[in-house]
Amino acid sequence: MDQNLTTIIDKRIEKTIKALKRNNMNGYHVRTVDELKTLLLELMPPETSLAVGGSQTLFETGLIDWLREQPFTFYDRYAPGLTPQEVQLVHRKAFSADAYLASSNAITEQGELYNVDGSGNRVAAITFGPSRVYLIVSPNKIVKDLDAAIARNREIAAPANNVRLSTNTPCTHTGSCNDCRSENRICCSYSIIGHQRDASRIHVIFLDGQWGY
Ligand code: SF4
Repeated sequence: MDQNLTTIIDKRIEKTIKALKRNNMNGYHVRTVDELKTLLLELMPPETSLAVGGSQTLFETGLIDWLREQPFTFYDRYAPGLTPQEVQLVHRKAFSADAYLASSNAITEQGELYNVDGSGNRVAAITFGPSRVYLIVSPNKIVKDLDAAIARNREIAAPANNVRLSTNTPCTHTGSCNDCRSENRICCSYSIIGHQRDASRIHVIFLDGQWGY
């Protein structure tokens, strides 16, 4: 990437990490997937039990396969052959896990996390349950404010996820939100996390590059 562009992105990451800190959340910046894995191993001891939220970022970075190889107790919602009922059980187990890994739909420069879910398991677990939450986030998900976060979901994240999931919702055809009432609508539970009482709970890791939606 062009060095001037890298400098600007680095500054936005730095500003957002400071804002997260003000909100009792932790921020990190890593350049590569290898650096990300090293950091996660520092943050999560081998006996950690963990679960993951639905995340294209975790797949694109290879973290799902990597987690399976580590000495963690991994409640793996993507394990081959799980029935829908078994996936539900994994979602429920996530609430008692030591750690939860996911991404975020958007993060504001004021250090707020914005997420939208279909079934709500991810926004629920990020909000309450797992003792530690690790969010792997592409720097292009940093937005100015909550209005921009909402717009990002309506114009990018949700339509792209609908295309990925072949939901046939209106946004899969128009490329932006139509406030649908489709039975396949993935925008059902909306969450803003603005602060944490436990300053050791939420960890946002910015990973250089473009990941997920
Ligand atoms: S509300 Fe419906 S149309 Fe809008 S982004 Fe979500 S699924 Fe797409």
